[in-house]
Amino acid sequence: MLPENVKVLIVGAGPTGLALSIALRQADIDHLIVDRLEAGLNTSRAAVIHAHTLEMLEPLGVVDELERRGRRLQDFSVRDGDRALLRLNFDGLPTRFNHILMIPQQDTEAVLADRLAALGGRVHRGVSAMSVAKRGDGYEVRLATTAGDCTVSADYVVAGDGMHSTVRQDAGIGFDGDSYADSFVLADVSMNWKTDRDEVAFYLSPEGPVVVAPLPDGRFRVVATRENAPERPDAALIEEIMNSRGPKTRNVRIGDVSWSSRFRLHHRVASAYRAGNIFLMGDAAHVHSPAGGQGMNTGLVDAVVLAGLLTAVLKHGRPGSDLDKYEALRRPAAEQVLALADRLTRVALVRGFWGKLLRTAIFGLLNLSPAFKRGVQLSLSGLDRRRFTELA
Ligand SMILES: Cc1cc2nc3c(=O)[nH]c(=O)nc-3n(C[C@H](O)[C@H](O)[C@H](O)COP(=O)(O)OP(=O)(O)OC[C@H]3O[C@@H](n4cnc5c(N)ncnc54)[C@H](O)[C@@H]3O)c2cc1C
Repeated sequence: MLPENVKVLIVGAGPTGLALSIALRQADIDHLIVDRLEAGLNTSRAAVIHAHTLEMLEPLGVVDELERRGRRLQDFSVRDGDRALLRLNFDGLPTRFNHILMIPQQDTEAVLADRLAALGGRVHRGVSAMSVAKRGDGYEVRLATTAGDCTVSADYVVAGDGMHSTVRQDAGIGFDGDSYADSFVLADVSMNWKTDRDEVAFYLSPEGPVVVAPLPDGRFRVVATRENAPERPDAALIEEIMNSRGPKTRNVRIGDVSWSSRFRLHHRVASAYRAGNIFLMGDAAHVHSPAGGQGMNTGLVDAVVLAGLLTAVLKHGRPGSDLDKYEALRRPAAEQVLALADRLTRVALVRGFWGKLLRTAIFGLLNLSPAFKRGVQLSLSGLDRRRFTELA
């Protein structure tokens, strides 16, 4: 049975909705979280959590479990066949999380859902938000449930309902941007990988880039660009990609594929993060290429920042205008992430013999620059975006 009135309604229980619900529960703020799916998606998708995200998630009480389930990696390399053009080591990052944490998205969501349950919270599943309309000082949200339709009144509505957000559309917020022509294939595979098993390796090759990252269960996440990729890339396709673009001195054999997908590339950011007391976060607010693994990370940080501002206003008497800080902080963060993902994607997609030769030469030079390497580390880890989380 759903309540008729709530202070905050969160639409969507992906990673961002779950993180916001945990933080509101910790602050004892009345809220409801609904998701149209009967069970979580339970697929691998975002497999990386970066250092800054771990810092931001720490107060939610989930980081120890994420670290226990995940795999910590310290090294990142850009390679041309067997030759490393650029090497980064995350050991010296100015944080206690001086690593990249590899963990499949379903595990991240399970850790968040378990934490929410431990705090006495729950996701109301099989509940779809159909429409959001302004009523007086708040909102009336029409929900479709397995027991029939109903409406819930909420003072605040938060869109955690992903890229095709119903809440964003009903709030009349634009989602401007573009799409790339290429698509990416992603696959979690077992394979006879001999290269450093504790390193994320980004191979540049005339056929296109491929990234290999070890997962906690001994498998590897493989990400590659591919024209006309099938919806479910199979072992033969991943093997062909690895052998044409990866190491040259040995044959890579793929055992099995536990999960795979095709990812069409968009880069879009919402024209506003707030319309009245409706707020957008996560994929409802920004989507971009998976290059750099920033999508889910940026959404999780959105959720923690929004929770901090809602807590300040609803619990500590701060004026409602403080909530304007949310867009002021988080939209520029998304724009910076979009620019980073776009740069990485364009580097990955360089075409033509001379373009690729130039790219290889530039990486060779950049490898000699500690300042450049430091900048890339801070950018990838999200630590150079700490300023977009400062509430005071
Ligand atoms: C194939 C694939 C691969 C990816 N790989 C990566 C990667 O390598 N790295 C990375 O960082 N990111 C990756 N992503 C993106 C990452 O998965 C998202 O950034 C992340 O899931 C966003 O979280 P979210 O909570 O904002 O939205 P979502 O995870 O999309 O969750 C939205 C939730 O809202 C629910 N919902 C939607 N509409 C309604 C409604 N009307 N009413 C009620 N509930 C609703 C949905 O059921 C869903 O549970 C990938 C995504 C895909 C699809």
